[in-house]
Amino acid sequence: MAALSIAVAGAGIGGLTAALALARRGHTITIIERRTGFTEVGAGLQLSPNASRILMDLGLGAALRRVVTEPPQVVVRDLGSGRPIGAVALGAFMRERFGAPYWVVHRAELQTILLDAVRSTPSVRLVMGRTVETVEDRADRAELTFVTGNGARESTAFDAVIGADGIWSTVRQSLGDCRKPGYRGSIAWRATIDRNRAPAELAGDETGLWLGRRGHVVHYPISGGRLVNIVAITKSPSPVDGWAAPGEGRDLLAGYANAAAALRKLLAEPEQWLRWSLFDHPVTSLAKGRVALLGDAAHPILPFLAQGAAMAIEDAAALASVLDADAQTVPSALSTYDSQRRDRVSKVQQAARQNGRVYHMGGLMGFARNQVMRRLGPEGMATRYAWLYDFRLLA
Ligand SMILES: Cc1cc2nc3c(=O)[nH]c(=O)nc-3n(C[C@H](O)[C@H](O)[C@H](O)COP(=O)(O)OP(=O)(O)OC[C@H]3O[C@@H](n4cnc5c(N)ncnc54)[C@H](O)[C@@H]3O)c2cc1C
Repeated sequence: MAALSIAVAGAGIGGLTAALALARRGHTITIIERRTGFTEVGAGLQLSPNASRILMDLGLGAALRRVVTEPPQVVVRDLGSGRPIGAVALGAFMRERFGAPYWVVHRAELQTILLDAVRSTPSVRLVMGRTVETVEDRADRAELTFVTGNGARESTAFDAVIGADGIWSTVRQSLGDCRKPGYRGSIAWRATIDRNRAPAELAGDETGLWLGRRGHVVHYPISGGRLVNIVAITKSPSPVDGWAAPGEGRDLLAGYANAAAALRKLLAEPEQWLRWSLFDHPVTSLAKGRVALLGDAAHPILPFLAQGAAMAIEDAAALASVLDADAQTVPSALSTYDSQRRDRVSKVQQAARQNGRVYHMGGLMGFARNQVMRRLGPEGMATRYAWLYDFRLLA
């Protein structure tokens, strides 16, 4: 395919990865980002082998190795008693079984690595402080209109436009999907603490997962092992706004009053908690004409399978691969992308919802879940997701 001019709306993990992958195929990319600067927003993200493989293929392995951690396993415990329920093998097992590592990383550090790579790629232009307002799919071009900081409107035509503008995507509306994502009744609280402040029994290299009826907690070391990232899920009838709504630690602790002592100690440490609400949205179409969606814009995923960033990274690689194929027009390439991705991202969305239900099982159901985990063992638990972690692009 001849070199194309492509606009990417949104410089999140998905948009930046797409820009890098598309530039490698010889295209010229303009990224249009609403924010005026990149502050340290967000905390831990998990990069399972399906995602780390792609980032390494993009040449980011050395930079990532300086900031990621590679937990040897997930230790699963009962939230109330603190008793171990089971484990999931990560570390060397993942590398050997799936040919790529299972990393955890601070979102801001991953974003910085992607940004540095984008800034040193001459065929990618990053334009900040511009909000994409509409995208119109014409027969021969796609026209994107954005608003600048002082309210001026500008329109530019591209061969293709990629909507990587997150869960509240504007580009998704341009594809005719005007539904709002659905709130799923839970709020995620996140915090980071210095590792030496974590209770000794929870300060190891592994990921901790605590399962309870009304919530669950995940923690793991990030920033090269310097910090511990903590995410606690609570039920709430109404959502909070944005990615970083402040929360009171004492309110969180009240909801975890019956948690095991070590977990309560961990949850009592952070001085600051930030909250975001959990939404998802059924996948309809990932592309129409010269316009495609990726990541949260196309398929917001509940975080219970840790695949939000990973699916955005997979989408980015898949897009670059179809836009490289010979004898394809842009609309036919994007239609191939839609059909390649739709079933997979729907399956991941459903698996994440299912994990949420399983995590919060109590009574007999919870007992049966624990028995299954014990019977499968750490490697069996990891291999259950071979369909997810072993992903490789067709093209
Ligand atoms: C600020 C922030 C903090 C987050 N923190 C966490 C966290 O702690 N843990 C976690 O698991 N996940 C977090 N996430 C979500 C996680 O990054 C995503 O689920 C995943 O990486 C998929 O990313 P994405 O690129 O599809 O979308 P996003 O990461 O949401 O990126 C979308 C980008 O598009 C930009 N944008 C939106 N609308 C427009 C527009 N109209 N015009 C131009 N640009 C636009 C946004 O500013 C953003 O930069 C966070 C996301 C954000 C935006």
